[in-house]
Amino acid sequence: MTFAPQRRWRNLIDGEWRDGATGEHIVILNPASGEPIAEVARAMPQDVELAVAAARRAFERRAMLALTPAERGRLMFDIASKLRTMTEEIAELECLDNGKTLANGRNEVALTVRYLEYYGGMADKLEGRQIPLGDGLVDFTVHAPFGVSAQIVPWNGPLPVGARSVCCALVTGNTVVLKSPEDSPLSLIKFAEACVLAGVPAGAFNLICGYGHDTGAALAAHPGVDHIVFTGSVETGKRVLRAAAERVVPCVMELGGKSAAIVHADADLGLAASRAARGIFTHAGQICSAASRVLVHRSIYDAFVAAMVAEAQARRIGPGAEGAELGPLISGRQLDRVETLCSVGVAEGAVLACGGRRAARTAGYFMQPTVFRDVTPSMRIAQEEFFGPVVVALPFDTPQEAVDIANGTDYGLAAGVFTRDLSLALWTADRLVAGQVYVNDWWVGGVETPFGGAKRSGYGREKGQEALLGYVQTKNIGIRL
Ligand code: NAD
Repeated sequence: MTFAPQRRWRNLIDGEWRDGATGEHIVILNPASGEPIAEVARAMPQDVELAVAAARRAFERRAMLALTPAERGRLMFDIASKLRTMTEEIAELECLDNGKTLANGRNEVALTVRYLEYYGGMADKLEGRQIPLGDGLVDFTVHAPFGVSAQIVPWNGPLPVGARSVCCALVTGNTVVLKSPEDSPLSLIKFAEACVLAGVPAGAFNLICGYGHDTGAALAAHPGVDHIVFTGSVETGKRVLRAAAERVVPCVMELGGKSAAIVHADADLGLAASRAARGIFTHAGQICSAASRVLVHRSIYDAFVAAMVAEAQARRIGPGAEGAELGPLISGRQLDRVETLCSVGVAEGAVLACGGRRAARTAGYFMQPTVFRDVTPSMRIAQEEFFGPVVVALPFDTPQEAVDIANGTDYGLAAGVFTRDLSLALWTADRLVAGQVYVNDWWVGGVETPFGGAKRSGYGREKGQEALLGYVQTKNIGIRL
């Protein structure tokens, strides 16, 4: 790969590319080398003011609502086609600022294009109800936008996670201020370029890159914001919710996970191990719905752990740009966090079947793929999110015990069941507290299937037709004739 990204990047406010109020920049590091690759204008709370004001003006002049729903849909298709032409550049940027593999980077663009086309296609199909009230009266509902939607995105999948919220907001007539993640903002800047090229009205979509503690917090608390979509950790989510509560602003919260794959005694062991391994080692485990726990029937526990270790050891560690399958963690800070939690696991008495520490490399933030065995449900490593390539394996004896362990964390994002018995699969799926349940695979579904959390994993849904309903409020109009 010979690609060298542009050195300086800016924020998009009111249709113009701008530096931040203080002229400072955030240095973007390549997590595979620790080297700086670019600088992004640092947005400050003053820039939040400008961006929210631009979004407010765009909403007041009905920048999106003045378009027919079909025109809004076509606009999403136009953004998609501009984005598609940038596939290789974005894929390489995702390797460089995010540590993704090239294949994963290309998939992120394809996925984003799908979101744009899916919600573009729905723009003219969000219909209200006509409610019969009797003679002389006509009553119907409309889906009204909230106004200015503030969106805050984490670093692990900024392009699809950010773009799906932006397009749901725009097709429903809202306007947007999105704060991109400070560690990996570049792909969303390309998305903003595609929006400008496609003709998204100035101010309807504003993109700012800044740190969370000042700029993110200022955005969440801004009095000009009518709606919040937050994707990130539970702790930050609670802060955002406190700010939102002050002004009773509705939120969609997409938070963390500690998702369990249950492997019943009759499961196809090879299939279950390969799918569970894909579920935890893809993007080095930095996926909210990663299969970070495997609960395995005691009769096949040893064989399953051995299969997971073989899966872990088959993955080549290295930069995604060089074709390796297991890329780096996003930062030195994240690598320290994951490694420290591994040592907690060892101190708690869990046994390392493989991995457990950073990979022996001279540069970059690489973690060994790690499998813990002999883990008990109350251990911290069975309760806390690593957000790294670390899976904990717990044995169980009965299906009820498996469900109890799976449901026994604060989280409820995703879950999986492996069995050849359809009745047992459905019995288990019915009892799992999770927004998505996969049977005999991990990540069944996609853009079309509603995704979101139960318990501390959040509320509201992204993806699927359900997502659009999170961007509108029902207004009832009653007419006496
Ligand atoms: P994080 O909570 O640290 O940061 C997320 C975003 O919030 C960043 O843009 C950050 O700048 C911003 N932020 C930080 N402090 C803020 C504040 N006080 N006010 C407003 N914004 C603030 O999370 P992270 O470490 O970047 O991402 C990892 C977490 O995200 C994991 O817990 C993961 O499970 C979760 N996640 C969830 C989903 C989902 O769809 N459920 C998807 C991806 C990631």
